[in-house]
Amino acid sequence: MPIRVLDPEVAQKIAAGEVVERPSSAVKELVENALDAGASQVQIEIRSGGLGLIRVADDGEGIPSAEVALAFQRHATSKLSTAADLSSIQTLGFRGEALASIAAVSQIVLYTRHRDEETGASLTLEAGQIVEQKPWAGPRGTAILVRNLFFNVPARLKFLRSATSEAGQIGHLVEQFALGHPEVRFRFVNEGRRVLETPGSGDLREALRQVYGTSIADAMVAIDEESESSHVRIWGLIGPPNLTRANRAGLSFFINRRWINSLSLGYAVEEAYRPALLPGRHPIVALHLELPASDVDCNVHPTKAEVRIVNERQVHGAAHRAVRAALLDVAPLPEVGAPLAPAAWRGAGDWFEQATALPPTDVASPPRPFSIGNGEGVDGAPGAPGPSPLSTGGGEGQGVTPSPFRPTTLRPVGQVQNTYIVAEGAGGVYFIDQHTAHERVLYEEIVAQRNVPDGPSQALLTPVVVPLSAPQRAALEERGEALSRLGFRFEAFGPDAYVLRAVPPRLARADLAGALRDAADVLTGDATAADGTDRLSATLACHGAVRAGDSLTMEEITVLLARLEETDVSRYCPHGRPVVVHLSVTQLERDFHRR
Ligand code: ADP
Ligand code: MG
Repeated sequence: MPIRVLDPEVAQKIAAGEVVERPSSAVKELVENALDAGASQVQIEIRSGGLGLIRVADDGEGIPSAEVALAFQRHATSKLSTAADLSSIQTLGFRGEALASIAAVSQIVLYTRHRDEETGASLTLEAGQIVEQKPWAGPRGTAILVRNLFFNVPARLKFLRSATSEAGQIGHLVEQFALGHPEVRFRFVNEGRRVLETPGSGDLREALRQVYGTSIADAMVAIDEESESSHVRIWGLIGPPNLTRANRAGLSFFINRRWINSLSLGYAVEEAYRPALLPGRHPIVALHLELPASDVDCNVHPTKAEVRIVNERQVHGAAHRAVRAALLDVAPLPEVGAPLAPAAWRGAGDWFEQATALPPTDVASPPRPFSIGNGEGVDGAPGAPGPSPLSTGGGEGQGVTPSPFRPTTLRPVGQVQNTYIVAEGAGGVYFIDQHTAHERVLYEEIVAQRNVPDGPSQALLTPVVVPLSAPQRAALEERGEALSRLGFRFEAFGPDAYVLRAVPPRLARADLAGALRDAADVLTGDATAADGTDRLSATLACHGAVRAGDSLTMEEITVLLARLEETDVSRYCPHGRPVVVHLSVTQLERDFHRR
């Protein structure tokens, strides 16, 4: 075939494919237009997964009658005029392509009335061609109906999933808009059924309540931090560590209100949770980053799902620190309460129950945890200013109260049942699960070490021969690098074993054969690299930790306590299994009728 310039109609269709990949991409563009028009209410209605009908209606400023046809031309936009504008984009749209692209592959009717006009206009298009324009007398704002999307692109239709699955994607998208714009009232209707409706009050927690339900919304922790050095404000709601999901769908990030996919930002935030998350679990987060427009390049992705940030590492670092600080401030420590309240420190629901019991103001502005300077005994000292509203506020008669735990001096008292360490510290007595605590400490240390190339390694006096199955050997051969980085030295030994010659020093007392076998199993799994490394760290920590039932010397107890104190995650309770339980002086005094 000779080379020739394509018909405009064909070129349109090709270009449309980039922007409008599936029904949810059309919905995304239409809702963005509504938001750019300053809408305070946006209604989204779909049928047949968006393939039959998409209707997006807003109460925004509308399109002047004289410009309605222009809006459907490619690269026609009211949002920027010079190339310089590209470097400081304040709107969600700017490419001037969406309406043209959607129109090219569907049948459209647009109704609009501009705020300065008495009469609006309606415009009908078919496959990008204008069929007719008429005056239209309706309310201010814009409604756009997209029928039979991809009717003229049969190849695209074949690749789409079921209507249910497309509708699910659109639902997720609308939820993200709701979290990104709590000040806007969104309503999503699928097949005539109202699926989502947000109040548009401007309160992120209220929007989130409609998306995730009341109990989750109440448990979320508010954060709002400004980092002067990286020019970023970080605000939003983050879930407590025990409220997790098996995938990343609960992670929502917005940069200047734009919902973005960012693996690296997700990673930075999840890293803040890491010590408290089970491998393969992901938190629920709705996080807004606000940056100067000139620090963000939105023009790197056809559907604008990714952006580039100047100083990305610093910004992500700031997000990491903000989330981590908030978690440390609010993650409570189960406390031994009134004798009859054991349920409150039992299962995974604890954090949650306690968090929901907190007065909202406490959750919104969490107190600083106490430290050595002001921490001595204040928890129980009558009349002393409480260092922590969380533990002093609702204590009376409530039995169990969450209490921040960042002790800096724990004095060992002894061991109970060779399983629990008893220590005295700020404001009372601490009971520490020795296995869980040691596991936590080791986990943190391993995680801290794993990005250091060639971590410290301790040669074994007697190398350990470990018989391994074929898949285990294959895993070590292919992915054993992850273990070498942690300080393991090993090699194949005969046809069905490996010999272990050196291990990370902190694992010296582990069951080494078991650790290597389990590690190989973890590496065999189909986990993603990051999840795999996490599971590996968790497995090694578990193997390296002292067990319940191990008798410990006072010296060992002292060392473990010291390491626990250095581990600022000591009060997280992963799997809902507490590491530390606190019996306050107040409680003791009450029990002994000294108060
Ligand atoms: P972009 O959003 O990149 O400018 P679009 O093709 O999405 O490009 O829209 C073209 C133009 O049509 C916009 O710049 C805007 O002026 C106008 N427009 C589209 N949708 C709306 C709407 N819902 N309300 C008001 N104006 C709109
Ligand atoms: Mg647009």
